[in-house]
Amino acid sequence: MTYDTQPNASHFVDGAYLEDAAGDPIDVVYPATGAVIARIHAATPAVIAKAVESGLRAQAEWAALSGRERGRVLTRAARIMRDRNRDLSVLETRDTGKPLSETLYVDATSAADALEYFGGLAGSLTGEHVQLGQDWVYTIREPLGLCVGIGAWNYPTQISCWKGAPALACGNAMIFKPSEETPLCALKVAEILVEAGAPAGLYNVVQGAGAVGAALVGHPDVAKVSLTGSVPTGRKVYAAAADGMKHVTMELGGKSPLLIFDDADPDDAVGGAILGNFYSSGQVCSNGTRVFVQRGIKEAFLARLAERLAQAKIGDPLDESVNFGPMVSARQREIVLGYIEKGKAEGARLVCGGSVIDGDGFYIQPTVFADVTDDMVIAREEIFGPVMAVLDFDDEAEAIARANNTPFGLSAGVFTRDLARGHRVIGQLRAGSCFINSYNDAPVEAPFGGVKMSGVGRENSKAAIHHYSQLKSVYVRMGRVEAPF
Ligand code: NAD
Repeated sequence: MTYDTQPNASHFVDGAYLEDAAGDPIDVVYPATGAVIARIHAATPAVIAKAVESGLRAQAEWAALSGRERGRVLTRAARIMRDRNRDLSVLETRDTGKPLSETLYVDATSAADALEYFGGLAGSLTGEHVQLGQDWVYTIREPLGLCVGIGAWNYPTQISCWKGAPALACGNAMIFKPSEETPLCALKVAEILVEAGAPAGLYNVVQGAGAVGAALVGHPDVAKVSLTGSVPTGRKVYAAAADGMKHVTMELGGKSPLLIFDDADPDDAVGGAILGNFYSSGQVCSNGTRVFVQRGIKEAFLARLAERLAQAKIGDPLDESVNFGPMVSARQREIVLGYIEKGKAEGARLVCGGSVIDGDGFYIQPTVFADVTDDMVIAREEIFGPVMAVLDFDDEAEAIARANNTPFGLSAGVFTRDLARGHRVIGQLRAGSCFINSYNDAPVEAPFGGVKMSGVGRENSKAAIHHYSQLKSVYVRMGRVEAPF
């Protein structure tokens, strides 16, 4: 069985599919062929109102359960997702164009990891007791209320659960708005949560582009907004949330540095650079797209890299032997091609790739530029495509200073066999999610998020609990009240 790409209706609200054909039409396109695989509609004000009303109702019911009871629903949902991993992976591939050889291992599975992890934590969320002589204070960890999750298009299933699982574990409800580019997968997450026993309305999915996202963020009954998206969108959403004094988590873009020292294992370093630039055709926020290579090993590194990239199997993402797919959309491909042209015009050396691949899909070759300098546009701006910029460096202090010279701070990596150096360098890099002799691992147990313009707050790990709950403190006086008059 595989899922039909055309959903029963556009939205999933109050425990069931919901349609309102008055909303703006959205065509869902399979990036490997350009074919329209589903037609849906953006949420109207009536759909949003129903999502909010049912979310508030479900949240009250859900928060009244014990954490353990909530956790049981989440872990049951995780089990269902694992059982249906192949169907969910095929849908993810159709929605995003990412190869099945990736989606089978990192999408529904990481979503299930989040449901399992936060389901496990739900029963142990507590406040604390503070003795103050005779008197005492106790704190209660309370949910925030109705949360809004807004997703990017690169990991639709994962993002929906990285936000939904901690929100629900803490006793909140969530309205999730997927990216308009990839609206299909979150609907399945909503279906599965209901099947696992979540009350109707607890996790609603509404569709639409920025206007629907903005309507949700501005809604007075929404207590928190968690966005995964670009920095310009993050600025707008953060400002709108501030107006209503709402909690936020901002998972935004990056231009992360990957430092490769001359003592690094050459194959591991090349492997890390490949994972940090070409997985999901480069559409990963934490990618190490500024690859600083110590001068003495640069040419050997580039030669090995070109050799390995020539082995990428590009093609139909549903063919499990394919490991490199298209960009998510024609528009994204145009943006990436624009950057490739800028790289050439600014005098960077094109080592490999640089062109589209003929056909109807939105493919671009894995592309590497060398001799990139810090001032070039391809070294400064997030490209969000398969374009690696290789920069040379001579010594550690220089590499660290140049790596930090960016408004972003999502991730950073270092390859070296000198472990003291590895820790020393990572200690000085200003980034939230870092790697030593590895790149882009993001297990649910580890906090994930950025510093500087790359974001606010952390997803995953116990840290996420603090972003989906608040403390009520209660002072208890044991003696008489002494008032001044
Ligand atoms: P985007 O910023 O264009 O859109 C993100 C989401 O925000 C979409 O759902 C969009 O509809 C919505 N949106 C747009 N305007 C809005 C508004 N005014 N109010 C509310 N919602 C609005 O990003 P994208 O192109 O979908 O994704 C790519 C970007 O996301 C890249 O910058 C990438 O680095 C970033 N990203 C970050 C992470 C992370 O965890 N840090 C993960 C994946 C992607």
